[in-house]
Amino acid sequence: MSEMRQLVGLLKQIDDQLVACMRCGMCQAVCPIYAETGLEGHVARGKIALLECLADEVIKDPAGVKERLDACLLCGSCQANCPSGVKALDIFLKARAFLTGYYGLPPVKRAIFRGLLQNPKLFDTVLGVASKFQGLFTKPVNDMLGSSCARVFSDLIGGRHFAPLADKPLHDVATQRDTPRGHSGLKIAFFYGCVVDKMFPRIGEAVLKVCDHHGVGVFMPHAQACCGIPALSSGDRETFEKLVALNMKVFAESDFDVLVTPCATCTSTIKKIWPLMAEDLPATTRYQVKELSAKVKDISAFLIQDVGVTPADVAVSGEPVTVTYHDPCHLKKSLGVSAEPRALIGCNPRYKLQEMDGADSCCGSGGSFTLQHYDLSKRIGKRKRDNIVATGATVAATSCPACMLQIGDMLSQAGDTLAIRHPVEIYAETLAGR
Ligand code: SF4
Ligand code: SF4
Repeated sequence: MSEMRQLVGLLKQIDDQLVACMRCGMCQAVCPIYAETGLEGHVARGKIALLECLADEVIKDPAGVKERLDACLLCGSCQANCPSGVKALDIFLKARAFLTGYYGLPPVKRAIFRGLLQNPKLFDTVLGVASKFQGLFTKPVNDMLGSSCARVFSDLIGGRHFAPLADKPLHDVATQRDTPRGHSGLKIAFFYGCVVDKMFPRIGEAVLKVCDHHGVGVFMPHAQACCGIPALSSGDRETFEKLVALNMKVFAESDFDVLVTPCATCTSTIKKIWPLMAEDLPATTRYQVKELSAKVKDISAFLIQDVGVTPADVAVSGEPVTVTYHDPCHLKKSLGVSAEPRALIGCNPRYKLQEMDGADSCCGSGGSFTLQHYDLSKRIGKRKRDNIVATGATVAATSCPACMLQIGDMLSQAGDTLAIRHPVEIYAETLAGR
């Protein structure tokens, strides 16, 4: 009964948000999915029209409703370009939660989200074991990108090239810590996120190195859990709420000034989605969520705005390395952060930034979108790859590990020899040997 009440509540919230759409079609011009398919049902305006009679449509054509709602990268381009301020992402996430609440989760997703993600220790153990045996099924394919592909049955995964699991995750490489404020007078809580922990621990190490150098205290607990967006974008609000509650236990009572993440998706989820979807949590947790979400910041924004990092005084010899920067949707469109990562890259005088066409156009990743609609995701990703390669850069930088995976796949499949780096890694290079 309480579940049904929650579903009716969700429907009401969606209804209240739909009325702002005036059908102007400005969202069409910027939707990467619409650019590929040309289908009205794939753009925000079409989805909103569908959702206006969600209850009826779900009864008439459940598969059709799901197909149109799933065909979305949740990139936020429509929302950022909407003159009426329609909160498209809020609407789509709530609509997915409604559908999943109504129909239930498919068994595989149930096992992953409720069996693994909700149990961070078990999740770490399972992926730790998988990292030891991955060499049996995968082989390295591009040294510069560090990518791998499947040894056999590559067709089963669409011929994907992917970043392997790290030999040692960040939580094994770096001990958990709680260090006091140093000469900066600042202390962060470090939310590293699942992909950095398990695939790109080098980014986490760069964050720690930079914080140590600038006298920033770090609270880095290993008990932190996933930010919850993979579950929520599949409509699994139950897992999402449990993960938020787990993170609250770890972070809410601790002493720090800023919650820092090197992952655009985690930053945007904690800042925007946690408070949005926390309505049904107990009052104390709701309050804590609000407090914590007000403190979260992308690592580049923190270093430039709060620490006041300036160009490093390091010796430069020879030609600078050309780097181009891809704006993750979750950072630029959702949070308006685009100058700071570029400024951080600019703090390393050994690099020269070369802008690409469409630096802020989506790379086609979209979390589980790339799993369900790989052909479409690849078509969008190839445009991004072409724009990157056209700059002549030897390094592609971005602030989201999910974008790194997608861009890495596209570059690797094309046989390109670029490196992919996070701005904080590029800045950390200036501190080598100090
Ligand atoms: S841009 Fe906004 S108001 Fe215009 S059709 Fe799209 S969602 Fe509706
Ligand atoms: S979130 Fe992105 S992919 Fe989804 S409808 Fe909006 S613009 Fe299109």
